[in-house]
Amino acid sequence: MNTKLLNGNQLAIEIRKEISKEIEKNILNKKKRVPHLGIILTGNNRSSMTYVNSKIKECQNIGIKSSLIHLPVGCIEKKLLEEINKMNQNPLIDGFIVQLPLEKHINQDKIILSIDPNKDVDGFHPENFGKMALNIKSFFPATALGILTLLERNQIKIPGKHTVVIGRSRIVGRPISILMSRRSNSGNSTVTLTHSHTPNIEDYTKQADIIIVAVGIPKFLKGRMIKKGSIVIDVGINSAKNEKKILGDVDFYSVYGKASYLTPVPGGVGPMTRVMLLKNTLIAALNRKDEKN
Ligand code: NAP
Repeated sequence: MNTKLLNGNQLAIEIRKEISKEIEKNILNKKKRVPHLGIILTGNNRSSMTYVNSKIKECQNIGIKSSLIHLPVGCIEKKLLEEINKMNQNPLIDGFIVQLPLEKHINQDKIILSIDPNKDVDGFHPENFGKMALNIKSFFPATALGILTLLERNQIKIPGKHTVVIGRSRIVGRPISILMSRRSNSGNSTVTLTHSHTPNIEDYTKQADIIIVAVGIPKFLKGRMIKKGSIVIDVGINSAKNEKKILGDVDFYSVYGKASYLTPVPGGVGPMTRVMLLKNTLIAALNRKDEKN
């Protein structure tokens, strides 16, 4: 079978152009300023630092201002809460993120709950998450929104399809399972959400029209686990021990040729996730009720 690769890099370029235009038209011209994203980073996790640097660069390239607060390793929860409170109160900040994961001594739930939902451009606050589940307008988590957009813009119809999601994390698996099943033209799919306690995952994946894999295990989904013509979305970003390159959660070479569509790693979901943070920041700036539009 001829497998079409879903090019996240290319689509992210297009969406960045759209966001740039929107910034110029509705923020720069009307509000005489640019959107402003705050980023709070804690500790010295190398991956987190790399992600944050790339987020800052993406903001620069598109005309979004960013401000980084970097708190040192071992920083106490109270200090982090103070910085969050400052971001919540700061009228110059449209939206902000607290880069995850946090160090073990910090209560992640408490941190997420302390973010003003109107500035929660990661879409992790329970208010936004609940609204998403109820199909009420809110910030959607960037990876889930990126996957939906990748499917939509490639004219892949979701309604009526059987989607199997592997992984139920708060940031990927659960939100995408909610979005794929919601009552909407970009949802209306029948979703099976699987996880580490699901026996014989291939019993589900073999029946799936769409498979979204977010497990964090390199090459987890093999070609023999899917049916011919299925659409496979690989969310994984794994650095393999003996290989310098990044590996996805899908065994690319056994799935390629059997799936109808497949996202490459890198260059599939990753760039879509990054661009959706920019989109959410733009939405936060447009949503501001304290400014004239
Ligand atoms: P996570 O929080 O570690 O969650 C992994 C999920 O996979 C859990 O729900 C876990 O089940 C499930 N799981 C683990 N082993 C399994 C198995 N053998 N069979 C079935 N399910 C299993 O991971 P995450 O944050 O969602 O990230 C997943 C991957 O996506 C990672 O590689 C991460 O780096 C990548 N990622 C990429 C992007 C992007 O933009 N491309 C964004 C975020 C994350 P339990 O709940 O039962 O433990």
